[in-house]
Amino acid sequence: MSGDTVDITILGAGPSGLAAAYYAGHRDATVRIVESLEQIGGQVAATYPEKHVYDVAGHPKILGQKLVELCAEQGLQYGAEVRLGEEAATLERVAEEDEELLVLTTKQGGHYRSRSLIITAGHGAFEPRKLGVEDVERWEGRGVHYFVRQKELFRDRTCVIVGGGDSALDWTLGLQDTVRPPIALVHRRDRFRALESSVNEAKELESAGRVRIMTSCEVREIHGDGHISAVTIENTTSGELEQVPCEALITLLGFHSHLGAITEWGLELEGKRQIKVNPMTMETNVPRVFAAGDVAGYPGKITLITVGMGEAAIAANNAIALIRGEKVQPKYSTD
Ligand SMILES: Cc1cc2nc3c(=O)[nH]c(=O)nc-3n(C[C@H](O)[C@H](O)[C@H](O)COP(=O)(O)OP(=O)(O)OC[C@H]3O[C@@H](n4cnc5c(N)ncnc54)[C@H](O)[C@@H]3O)c2cc1C
Repeated sequence: MSGDTVDITILGAGPSGLAAAYYAGHRDATVRIVESLEQIGGQVAATYPEKHVYDVAGHPKILGQKLVELCAEQGLQYGAEVRLGEEAATLERVAEEDEELLVLTTKQGGHYRSRSLIITAGHGAFEPRKLGVEDVERWEGRGVHYFVRQKELFRDRTCVIVGGGDSALDWTLGLQDTVRPPIALVHRRDRFRALESSVNEAKELESAGRVRIMTSCEVREIHGDGHISAVTIENTTSGELEQVPCEALITLLGFHSHLGAITEWGLELEGKRQIKVNPMTMETNVPRVFAAGDVAGYPGKITLITVGMGEAAIAANNAIALIRGEKVQPKYSTD
């Protein structure tokens, strides 16, 4: 076994998981968080750390990364153990002395025992969609990026952004004050899916020589000696090939995400992507297993940070009541 038995295992360190850790810790429950990414913060940290969020209670306008840092400060203040880089594999039950425990195993070899489990896995473990270029993995960490986590990483670099959605357009605009112009914006279709106003802004920047819009184009090859220095781009209409200088190739093609192994634990699902819960308690059909946040489904569910945080409070308080054989009794945090 990896570590001690805890009261609650929390699967997923997004905003809902961190909120569950807060509510559990506040009630003196011991907590372990298991997270497949090497970072906490879920979708917020992985997909929009440098965008502003306006609708989280108490924060009229806050950067995604700042929100995650505050959620972590709040959620981890009671000393929850955090296991990063571990993807859940199996869930078993074992009888130990006079209690029944859950054992969560991970693909990385972790065996974690707890009295209950709160699944806050969002859309599941997610991976970026990758370019269909041979050997693209070889260039990861050498100039290929799937996220923009810190703009400074791109300071004064020549940059090619691939994608046709909001993220590609947002970062073409958002990196204007950082990278060496022009940013080449490469999209395989002739029209963008992004907001019209962003596309228009990119077109204006193109007239000023700060963006080069390359539609009906695809990256075919990556060149460099140790680190990327250029990419070959094909215009799929004319068949023309062009080598474009590129020290940072940012591909923003969305994510694959899947609940994966979680669907094999006997949990009743709501649609294909959510675990069915009783919204009064956030219990699933599997005893001692709760779910909260984007992964939890019931009629009328809205997938927002604030909603997930509220569900996390319900799940944590119900898990604690169940473990302790008490009535559900939230305690105010004021002192
Ligand atoms: C571009 C964008 C903008 C958004 N803007 C807003 C907004 O303005 N306001 C708002 O309220 N919401 C917004 N959202 C939605 C919001 O981000 C989600 O509702 C929120 O992140 C859900 O939090 P969560 O903790 O439930 O799940 P997530 O944030 O998805 O976190 C789940 C975590 O669980 C981990 N995990 C999953 N499966 C496993 C596994 N098998 N093993 C281990 N770990 C696992 C994942 O790696 C992830 O870190 C936005 C979403 C996107 C994509």
